[in-house]
Amino acid sequence: MKLKAESLSLLGDDILKPAYDRSAVTPGILHIGVGGFHRAHQAVYTEQLLNRGKAGDWGICGVGLRAEDRAMRDALAAQDYLYTLYELGDGDDTGIQVVGAILDFVLAADGPEALLARLTDPVIRIVSLTITEGGYCTDDSTGEFLAELPEIRHDLENPQSPKTVFGFLVEALKRRRDAGIRPFTVMSCDNLPHNGEVARNALLSFAALRDEALRDWIADNVTFPNAMVDRITPMTSPAHRQQLLDETGIEDAWPVVAEPFLQWVLEDKFCNGRPDWNEVGVQFTDDVTPYEEMKIGLLNGGHQALAYLGALLGHRYAHETMQDAQLRDYVRVYMDSDVTPYLEEAPGIDLAAYKDSLIQRFSNTAICDQLSRIGYDGSSRLPKFVLPTLLRQIEAGAPLHRTALIIAAWCQYQTRIDQNGNPFEVGDPRSDLVRQAARPGDDQVERFLGMEEVFGRRIPESAAFVEAFRLQLERLQTLGVRATLERCMADEG
Ligand code: NAD
Repeated sequence: MKLKAESLSLLGDDILKPAYDRSAVTPGILHIGVGGFHRAHQAVYTEQLLNRGKAGDWGICGVGLRAEDRAMRDALAAQDYLYTLYELGDGDDTGIQVVGAILDFVLAADGPEALLARLTDPVIRIVSLTITEGGYCTDDSTGEFLAELPEIRHDLENPQSPKTVFGFLVEALKRRRDAGIRPFTVMSCDNLPHNGEVARNALLSFAALRDEALRDWIADNVTFPNAMVDRITPMTSPAHRQQLLDETGIEDAWPVVAEPFLQWVLEDKFCNGRPDWNEVGVQFTDDVTPYEEMKIGLLNGGHQALAYLGALLGHRYAHETMQDAQLRDYVRVYMDSDVTPYLEEAPGIDLAAYKDSLIQRFSNTAICDQLSRIGYDGSSRLPKFVLPTLLRQIEAGAPLHRTALIIAAWCQYQTRIDQNGNPFEVGDPRSDLVRQAARPGDDQVERFLGMEEVFGRRIPESAAFVEAFRLQLERLQTLGVRATLERCMADEG
């Protein structure tokens, strides 16, 4: 049965569906980047409020800035913007839910004016973002906005017909200011340390290049809460769609698959109101730093530790790496000995239990989380998920071998061939640069670590790290992954 508003009443009682009148809900949020994660996380928290008869003026309008978003818009539009959240886990705490919180979808490609009109509408009080880690056009090593990128130049030269998130938001905020309309909160839900601050710095840098007075008005009037967001959400595969159809009879063009776990810790800094997400489990705090550092260092850092070594060993899914005792031990020691010493206490969190739960979540066999997804865009992800830990270790004079192995594995991963001789795909918007830097040769180590966009300056200046990296890479190339892991685990520290 095709998912549509009129087919909702035909769904089985075990499937949760909107318990409210969708036609009475009005939009309050524009969300840019409607991929899997938004639909499994923020939209689901909002749905929970709607199901309680609340937040009726906080419906979501999806926004796609990229050509590839047309497929998602078309899929959702054809089913009245409804979609299925398909929770998959190894226990029995899983559910199937049809979500109705997304009411509409605007594509920038259909004309920038229509999107600018929505962004300027006073009912829109929050603009939220999941535009990926690389979407903030920020140099990780310096924190500087990359103003010279061609798409940014385009938006500065064509303020009425922008293409990037910065061009759209700054033009919309200018129009709101000029018309006396209150601004919206800009809420990043991307996996970045201090995601609100990164979004703020990028937006203000862009605005300053247009007009200093506008920059100052945004700085004084717009808020950018930091957030820790968590729910493992793999790419929806054809097998997931088929499994959903077989299990429920629901024919959904683009369901979202997620683990049962979800978490959101958010700073309460909203310049124009917010839904009462606190009533449905969102934790509000003054300072999200200890939570995000814990989550990014352990979960996202742990994922990086598994993705490249796992792929080189011939694994394709996260749970396969957890069934591999060598990798499971390695990632746990990395969490305990390399990441944990630098974490501040996060109030209310038992760190040992948190790490146990991560190992359990990584082991989820039902979800089939792809290593290709976890290893995607390493050139943006390593600097956010692993290099902050490495920099602290360098500063502390700590042993570097396990962290060096993650980075050496990322270098070796660029060969795109596993130890069994099978090819795998590597996705990275900067893949040409990375592949070029990783090619074998006498100067491979210097060339690879010389990618300043990734490693900055301090990392290649650490003689101890360069030697640790050289050793791990040499072992990977001469001894293979298993023997390298074995020696790495036996090395002191
Ligand atoms: P996805 O591939 O399903 O969707 C990505 C979306 O971002 C698409 O709509 C795409 O068009 C848009 N996008 C990409 N680059 C952009 C840019 N430069 N400007 C504007 N839009 C851009 O991915 P997803 O699973 O939804 O993950 C998106 C982000 O959410 C991640 O990068 C991460 O920061 C965060 N996140 C994901 C997970 C997860 O498990 N998937 C968990 C926590 C946080």
